[in-house]
Amino acid sequence: MNKLLLLFSLVALGLHAEVKVLKNFTLIDGTGRAPVAHAAMIIDNGKISWVGTTANLKAPSGAQVIDLTGRYVMPGLINLHGHLGAVIGLKQDASYETPENVEKNLKTYASYGVTTVQSMGTDKPFVLEMRDKQRASGRPGETRIYSAGQGFVFKGGYGGLAGVTPEVATPGEVAPLVDKLANEKVDIVKFWMDSELGKKPKMPHSIGKAIIDAAHQHGLPVACHIFYLEDAQAMTDDGVNGLAHSVRDQPVNQALIDSMKKHGTWQMAETLTREAAIFTYVKTPPFIGDPFFTRGLSPETVATLKTPAFHQQMMKAVPEYEQFHQFLKTAQENLKRLADAGVKYGMGTDSGPPTRFPGWAEHWELELMVQAGLTPMQVIVASTKSGAEFLKAKDLGTLEKSKWADLMVMQKNPLDDIRNTRTVEAVYIAGNRVK
Ligand SMILES: [Zn+2]
Repeated sequence: MNKLLLLFSLVALGLHAEVKVLKNFTLIDGTGRAPVAHAAMIIDNGKISWVGTTANLKAPSGAQVIDLTGRYVMPGLINLHGHLGAVIGLKQDASYETPENVEKNLKTYASYGVTTVQSMGTDKPFVLEMRDKQRASGRPGETRIYSAGQGFVFKGGYGGLAGVTPEVATPGEVAPLVDKLANEKVDIVKFWMDSELGKKPKMPHSIGKAIIDAAHQHGLPVACHIFYLEDAQAMTDDGVNGLAHSVRDQPVNQALIDSMKKHGTWQMAETLTREAAIFTYVKTPPFIGDPFFTRGLSPETVATLKTPAFHQQMMKAVPEYEQFHQFLKTAQENLKRLADAGVKYGMGTDSGPPTRFPGWAEHWELELMVQAGLTPMQVIVASTKSGAEFLKAKDLGTLEKSKWADLMVMQKNPLDDIRNTRTVEAVYIAGNRVK
């Protein structure tokens, strides 16, 4: 297509109502209801205006009809814990965080069927401007951004992105910084409370409480990075809205479950792939030959992942890497226990930082959630409807009338094997095909 024609088509797309019809697929709508065979859907200007069976379909004249015989359709994935744009290849640096690199990340997420990502606390202010532009456009053609702006790190402590995230030493420093975030209209507030296995000073509970209180005064939800049960308990008791990781030092107990249910606290993200990544990349990963893995990576990155020098570097970065097998197991058992107890949970990976590859991480997370004992249907609902519920995004998360048509088309049924989400062959965001 020449440039003029392309420009003309883009203008036409924007100005005129555009109707698409999808038909003859099996619908997994994200609500948890049983799948519907021979389903059909009408998408009007990016939103679902009708959904039913192909037998009952009345396709509007002039609509573009897409026959999806033999295919499976589910909502796009919502990743409640990502980090946008600060990595090139296998290196992270604040200077890499540019609009171009964030766009590149968003495209990668979209190509894998991750249609919404909540970026958790390492964003420069321009990311919020990008988010605002998306929302003002009404109909983005790229993965939707939710952002915590700049999260809070304890002085000299663990977490954040040097040069972007502020350090605080006392509860008194918190309120003006939260005011600033509220001004930027962040979607959520984030803080890190961790000691990196005892190597760094941990944020005191009093600072965590000050952040929660200040954010709540602005009506903003708060999520905290935790590792230890005692911190999850204290922050839940103080009203935190989401745990950004699993408790990994020991099994969750009834006191935490009771407090999470009482306060409506979510296991917002379990980030199982984060644990797995630590020990998986100290050698050549078993999935190095999987085109679904490598297609999101540059050839240089794929080559580096095979080198002993890189494996050594990974071991040095986290000398305790062997312990992460146990942390992963504990996280999985805790997820199952919380889910069985009726605590709400979404899906989140902590993808973005080196070796936590956007897109691949989310599909891997689904697999690890099923391995933890959840059914494929529970995992799909967590990654779609529940994610939207946590974000209070009323028109996202399920494929029902009046929702945005954010969806993935797959060749195989993910309810048979959750790894079948990797047969994704087309992705739509607001009815725009992005892959
Ligand atoms: Zn994170």
